[in-house]
Amino acid sequence: YATEASLRKEDSSTEGNSFKGHDMLAPFTAGWQSNDLDHLVIEKSEGSYVYDINGKKYLDALAGLWCTSLGGDEPRLVAAATEQLNKLPFYHSFWNRTTKPSLAFCLSETEAPDLAKELLETFTASKMAKAFFTNSGSEANDTQVKLVWYYNNALGRPNKKKFIARAKSYVDWSIDYLFQFSCWEHSQLLIIIFEFRWYHGSTLIAASLSGLPALHQKFDLPAPFVRHTDCPHYWRYHLPGETEEEFSTRLANNLENLILKEGPETIAAFIAEPVMGAGGIQAAVKKYDILFIADEVIRAFGRLGTMYGSDKFNIKPDLVSVAKALSSGYLPIGAVMVSPEVSDVIDSQSSKLGSFSHGFTYSGHPVACAVAIETLKIYKERNILDQVNRIAPNFKMVLPDTSPCNILSLQIRGTGLILGTEFVDNNSPNDPFPPEWGVGAYFGAQCEKEGMLVRVAGDNIMMCPPFIMSPEEVGELISKHGKALGATEERVKELKSQ
Ligand code: PMP
Repeated sequence: YATEASLRKEDSSTEGNSFKGHDMLAPFTAGWQSNDLDHLVIEKSEGSYVYDINGKKYLDALAGLWCTSLGGDEPRLVAAATEQLNKLPFYHSFWNRTTKPSLAFCLSETEAPDLAKELLETFTASKMAKAFFTNSGSEANDTQVKLVWYYNNALGRPNKKKFIARAKSYVDWSIDYLFQFSCWEHSQLLIIIFEFRWYHGSTLIAASLSGLPALHQKFDLPAPFVRHTDCPHYWRYHLPGETEEEFSTRLANNLENLILKEGPETIAAFIAEPVMGAGGIQAAVKKYDILFIADEVIRAFGRLGTMYGSDKFNIKPDLVSVAKALSSGYLPIGAVMVSPEVSDVIDSQSSKLGSFSHGFTYSGHPVACAVAIETLKIYKERNILDQVNRIAPNFKMVLPDTSPCNILSLQIRGTGLILGTEFVDNNSPNDPFPPEWGVGAYFGAQCEKEGMLVRVAGDNIMMCPPFIMSPEEVGELISKHGKALGATEERVKELKSQ
């Protein structure tokens, strides 16, 4: 089937950019795509833009991979890394040894800040007592599982070990991001809007928690202790006449039934990205002494116009995962934040269980921590939440409220700087376009041609721009999106008429 890479060949503006990936087993790429197709090789970044090896400029509407929140050339982050590299490029944090940037408490009031303290202060939806550092979001979610198991072992509850996560629909073509809130009708296409994902990472356990068949089928996953609950995709799965609130309540009831069927004494935790309507879910898990883990890997630090998704949707988690915008993507770092209740048990029981035998060579890497400290400082100094809230309404104009759609309300709700859309045929919105039409890929290739990068997965498009975009850049994004959409509509019209 068509992919952006195969369509790239048709675009003469990238002629001469013929980089094949023979030597690299590329992440989330089919082998044949790596071997036979041209790679888009990015060489340089500047603010909200990246440049390919031929000097072509692209508006980076995905902030790298949902991460370069401060854009591609923030000098203070480069300076923070350089200073730390000059002072101490590496030391670890094992066995009561550590480094100042990562240290879990300040040496004195006048000392430079340490990341654990700074990070814990950013989370106010519920109290967090300690931070554990990882290199990525996947490692953060894997760490969650080990923390929760250690916690239940410490409490003498060896059977309370299962995890519940959300499933994507197990229908092949359905979207792998969720919570579409509305849709927008075009002459050839219906665009369904959603703002949520089921992805928790790609290590064995994080992939097991992810509700995506594509991450499971080829790898003998999910792990046996993982259960998946309903796909909260209202548009696809609501019953006739069911409101969104009734739908959320039904899902919370289904979750409770799943807990009762499995036995509450066997369920340790529920993991999800915080979304609207999760209140019922929160109540259900609390009732059965099940920990709530908020995967804030994409949402943390302002993406939704609040510091965390938990703030926006009034979720009070016991554990939180972060990564990506923690260092604005400049260096690999993630973290887990742990509530006082969980950390007290882990601390107090360690004489019985022994040390928390888990960690990575680069847990709390001093250079990554120094960059993360500077990133959090910049968010504060520049009132990043105000900045996001200033441009988010413009960003939403990427899909203006035009022709009313008879399927759902048109209102695009408060999604901040994140937008997922799915293209379906407006004549039969419950059916996908034939995959061989490559509608999403065509749209992605048109964006590339226009000089903009988005994420394409099947007929789903994801945008997640840097926080620092100017209103003019948002205008450019909208204009490029519009042109790519126009071309895609033409293509669909052509295909429909064949
Ligand atoms: N959780 C969520 C919600 C994510 O979006 C991602 C990555 N996109 C991860 C976890 C995994 O993070 P990483 O790729 O850093 O392992």
